[in-house]
Amino acid sequence: MKQFFSLLTAVILLFMFCTGCNTVKVTEPDSTEKLSRYEGSFLDVFDTVTRIVVYAETEATASAIVDNIHAQLLNHHQLFDIYNDYPGIHNLKTINDNAGIRPVKVDKQILDLLDYAKKMYTFTGGKMNVALGSVLQIWHNYREAGIDDPVNAALPPIADLKAANAHTNIDHLIIDRDASTVYLADPTMQLDVGAIAKGYAAQLVIDKLRAEGVQHLLLSIGGNVCGIGLRGDGTPWKVGVQSPDMQSNLCTVALTNLNLVTSGSYQRYYTVNGQQYHHIIDPETLMPADYFVSVSILCDDSGKADALSTALFNMPLSDGRTMIESLDGVEAMWTDQNGVETFSSGFESLLIHD
Ligand code: ADP
Ligand code: MG
Repeated sequence: MKQFFSLLTAVILLFMFCTGCNTVKVTEPDSTEKLSRYEGSFLDVFDTVTRIVVYAETEATASAIVDNIHAQLLNHHQLFDIYNDYPGIHNLKTINDNAGIRPVKVDKQILDLLDYAKKMYTFTGGKMNVALGSVLQIWHNYREAGIDDPVNAALPPIADLKAANAHTNIDHLIIDRDASTVYLADPTMQLDVGAIAKGYAAQLVIDKLRAEGVQHLLLSIGGNVCGIGLRGDGTPWKVGVQSPDMQSNLCTVALTNLNLVTSGSYQRYYTVNGQQYHHIIDPETLMPADYFVSVSILCDDSGKADALSTALFNMPLSDGRTMIESLDGVEAMWTDQNGVETFSSGFESLLIHD
């Protein structure tokens, strides 16, 4: 399971730390805007910490917004969960459990997520593959065992990984829109939407909040950060991209109606014979990708940013750069093992130099 506080992108803001779904007032109203700053957080979705900053006129308004976000994310979390069953819900685990057995009737949100995942599989040349679950499950099990018992931490046998990789063909993910079902035609295939679920869910929430008229809000789900509008004082949200040593920021960006999503090697890993093995798996080598220590994506869609951050992590700089430069309004930042940072052509215009 993901660890609490596993922020791939740290939001360096003065968040007040509170557990549960509660909301805390942080500043008094700004004289011109009549808005106060409120902060809320909770720990029970997507196995990470969700943090919200919102400017509102009253605490009641701010609390209602935080509760609303919490309810929406809890629903998405349950639908996209591959580890747990929930009463009365068909989720991704239900689909996995029925691989090779029968199609499973699911909520439209699952159909939409999986359609999007297929689209991004094609766009990324398979570098982000939600059908990689059988391989990812092996890594997950070895990582969990290695974290629990570091002395006996081991690497998965490559033969096991290769055998599992024979069951990762995304064409066996059958989505039937008319019947609202999903079927895994390969009985050994498993879905894992860890690469896109947080970002995809964040975008659904942000779209809804915007439609409801929310104008000044920052949402971070485990470091998938979305900024709506400006802060209460009319200045842009400022969000730091965390350095892999987790002590500082690599840079700070302005996040006005934009999303920043980072994939990194430095927060979810285990150690075997003194070497760290992280959780983003290159579908070609079936090993943790070693091109970079982090890749951050900036764009107006959080789901796209999440899918691309994982995909670019799994490909050489030249391929990633070509992919990003082919997209309008999408920027990337790559950091390699030597600390060398590379920015796509439009990224630097969003940097804030304090
Ligand atoms: P995080 O979820 O830690 O913020 P990512 O968005 O990069 O980081 O997603 C990593 C997760 O995606 C892994 O924990 C795993 O569940 C899944 N994953 C790892 N490698 C791949 C891959 N090549 N394609 C699709 N999903 C992957
Ligand atoms: Mg991702």
